[in-house]
Amino acid sequence: ATPTALLVGTGRGSQLGILIGGPQALERTRAVDTIVLDKTGTVTTGEMRLSAVLPAGAAPDGDATLLALAAAVEDGSEHPVARAVVRAARERGLDVPVAEQFAATPGAGVQGVVDGEVVVVGTARWLAEAWAVRVDDALSTQVGAAEAAGGTAVLVAWGGALLGAVVVGDTVKPESPEAVRRFVALGLRPVLLTGDNEGAARAAAGRVGIDDVRARATPASKLETVRQLQAEGRTVAMVGDGVNDAAALAAADLGIAMGAGTDAAIAASDVTVVSGRLTVVADAVRLSRATLRTIR
Ligand code: ADP
Ligand code: MG
Repeated sequence: ATPTALLVGTGRGSQLGILIGGPQALERTRAVDTIVLDKTGTVTTGEMRLSAVLPAGAAPDGDATLLALAAAVEDGSEHPVARAVVRAARERGLDVPVAEQFAATPGAGVQGVVDGEVVVVGTARWLAEAWAVRVDDALSTQVGAAEAAGGTAVLVAWGGALLGAVVVGDTVKPESPEAVRRFVALGLRPVLLTGDNEGAARAAAGRVGIDDVRARATPASKLETVRQLQAEGRTVAMVGDGVNDAAALAAADLGIAMGAGTDAAIAASDVTVVSGRLTVVADAVRLSRATLRTIR
């Protein structure tokens, strides 16, 4: 991908707000037969909201400390989960402490130090593997139910003790079902690829009409999925917005970034859709094919 995007497709391209990195991108669009869509921020709005707080045994006072500590660490992150947690703590008027030594692990979670103890917020897998924090059966059941209902649950631990989970969720963009219909009409097979859990992935996929769902993907396995599809002989467009999508966007035959996405996603992509509207991605494919026909 070329970092300096130039506007092509002349009038139509700029009207639609499609930035194309170079003529090779147009050329590749013609052969695309598969479109891999990131979920959060691509198919969904990415404006997550808190739906529940699930305190575990170690939580000192129910929701408050759990949410305040989570917000302290998430304050350093731009992730949709982070924004939902920070906003909820603010709305509840909680006293959010300042975290030090913030670090984020894409597709997994965030960490920071509060009062000399490490706070981690992220997936159950990451807390188990990187922090040796295990989820007890009671919380596990609650988290499972929240996820089955389409929510995204992240766990919160402080000083190695599990405080509980926060559940967030967002909605699909209003134009996403229409966009998926247009992809199919253009002969593209849609695949939903997400780092989120199976329940949240299935819920979003069901709302937009995608059957092929790949959940719990890490940034590395997103890349692997793109390579796998290519190995099956498919020509793959990938649409994403996150740091976690960057490697997959770069490996795809055509990488398409959402305009509101991270710099990493935009830099890794061939095409940027400024408005982030998914129907514009379908327009971009159509326009590129039409432009190629005109050139010939
Ligand atoms: P997606 O593929 O849907 O864009 P990501 O790969 O960004 O999702 O994230 C995958 C999962 O990693 C999230 O559902 C969440 O559980 C966890 N995660 C990522 N970033 C954060 C964060 N800042 N705080 C808590 N959890 C996070
Ligand atoms: Mg995303």
